[in-house]
Order: sequence, then C-alpha cells, then structure tokens
Amino acid sequence: MNKLLLISLLFIQQLSFAAEVNVYSARKEALIKPLFDQFTKETGIQVNLVTGEADTLLKRLEVEGRNSPADILLTVDVARLIRAKESGLFQQTDSDVLDKAIPEYYRDSDKQWFGLSLRSRVIIYAPDRVKASELSNYADLANKKWKDRICVRSSSNVYNQSLVAAMIANEGLEKTEAWAAGLVKNFARKPKGGDRDQIKAVAAEVCDVALVNTYYLAGMLASNQEDEVEAAKKIKLFWPDQAGRGAHMNVSGAGILKPSKNKKEAIQLLEFLVSDYAQHWYADTNYEFSINLAIDSSSILKSWGDFKADKLNLSLLGKYNRDSVLLMDRVGWK
Ligand code: FE
Repeated sequence: MNKLLLISLLFIQQLSFAAEVNVYSARKEALIKPLFDQFTKETGIQVNLVTGEADTLLKRLEVEGRNSPADILLTVDVARLIRAKESGLFQQTDSDVLDKAIPEYYRDSDKQWFGLSLRSRVIIYAPDRVKASELSNYADLANKKWKDRICVRSSSNVYNQSLVAAMIANEGLEKTEAWAAGLVKNFARKPKGGDRDQIKAVAAEVCDVALVNTYYLAGMLASNQEDEVEAAKKIKLFWPDQAGRGAHMNVSGAGILKPSKNKKEAIQLLEFLVSDYAQHWYADTNYEFSINLAIDSSSILKSWGDFKADKLNLSLLGKYNRDSVLLMDRVGWK
C-alpha cells in the first residue's frame, strides 16, 4: 500500500475512534473554551466548538435538521433555550448529577435544557445623586420621581424581554404594561448601547439609575481599561425587590440536540459544567453566580453581599416572551 494512503487511512481511523462532542455556542469562545480544554484534559474527549450569534445557530440547526453534527447547543439566556425546545431541537437528558446540581426552577421540567450559570438583572445608581433608601423594586422605577433619570438598553435585547416576561408571570399583563409605560416616561434618553454603556451613562451623569446584568458591572470593575474601572467605581449596585420576590434571575445554559451522535460524551460535558471546578471558573472568569448559589463566588460578587433571588420558574420567561415583546412595543420602549 502506498505510504500516503496508509497514513490517511490511519488518520481517518483515529478520527472515527476519538471520543468527541460537538458544541454550537452562542457564548463567546474566550468565555467557554478554557473550560472545554480542562474537560478534554480530564476525560480525553475532544470538544469541537462552533460559536455564533444565538439566532443564527438556531436557524442553522433547523436547516441542518437530522444531519446536524451538533450534540449540544449552549446559549447565554433562557429565552433562546426555550425557543430551541419549542422548535423541537432538544431531546430529553436524564442525569442525576444535573438534577442534583441545578435547582428545578433553573432547568426544564421535561429535562430538555439546563441552566449552567446564573446572573441577575439589577438596579445600579449614582450614590451622589440617589440614596439607596429611595430605591426598592423594579415596580418603583415607574414612579414619577425618576422622570428623565433612567437609562436602559433597547427592548430588542433579550435580557429586557426576560425581565418583562418575569414581571408578566409575577404581576400579570395589565399591571406590567402600566409599569412599562411609566418606566418609558422616565427614560433619560432613547434606549441605546449595551449594559456597559448604561453603567458609563450613569457615571457620566446622563442618568441616575439603570438596569444591568451583574457580570457587566463586575467585568468593568476588573477591567484593564482605566475608563471602565473609573465608571464602574462611580456607581453602586442595588438588589431589587428584597422585601418581595427577590432580584430577577437569568441563566446561561444548554441542552442536548436531537440528532446527537455523541450523547454519552455530551452528558459528560454538561455534568462537567456543573462541577465545582467549572462553577468556580464561571464565578472567577465570567463573574457569574454558581447555578445553585451554594458555591463560593468571586470576591467582587461577594462584595455585593447576600441577596434574595427570585425563584420564578424560568420556563415562564419563554412562555411570556412574545407578550413581553409586544407589550414593550405598545408602550414605546424602542
Ligand atoms: Fe451578556
């Protein structure tokens, strides 16, 4: 046999025997790849990573159908996980490890998706212009006293959609619509930019109060860009609704896809992602909370103190996503 042919045959054989798992990830490579590398080191299972925008990956999975090479879809918000479930992309995954590590309100009751890390959407404020005692919950942000003082990103952003969906689930549609209409009247400017931009706007006195995800604030505090650190130091975090349901929570998470040809390895990877090692990594590197809030957080997260988290079942955020989008449109939340 010709030498080249032999080498390529050996290579193909090696490929087909190497244990592997294929991940489509909406989470940026830098924020997940080091964990996958550790998994490979521990198990010998190769992780092939395709990263992209969540909706693009969902579309791709639908187009690929049964021929998709993907085993796992990973997203950074629960609404996309629920969308994937509703599109019939996921299969049921039975794992005692996952069930034990993840509170039931942070995973799908049909075992199709699982929350892997936790973040809260909180109120931030300028302590030189706002007293903490003036703040209370999300509902209060519709109060006239905040007129022209609030910054928040656009309604096309899924984090806002999930926050509004949670309010619909907790308070009903009518009450939430009245709240959103009041909130919009209090906007200091037309919604623009990402969460980091809202933090910078409060620091720059464009507004006094904003709604942001916790890890953006922590990321800015730990940033190597001086202007980000400076802005973040000028503002303070307020845990909303501590006398009520608690702060709104969202997850990054994943599910195993129907066409998966490496289900055993895929389950192993998901189980690794809820291990102590991975959960500490999420806290130290991404500034997210452990999915069961029991594992110690990074020092920045700890500096914000203990808080009460809303235990709303996150499946409801998917149920009310469409209602939340329509509602925000009706009240002029651009
Ligand atoms: Fe984000």
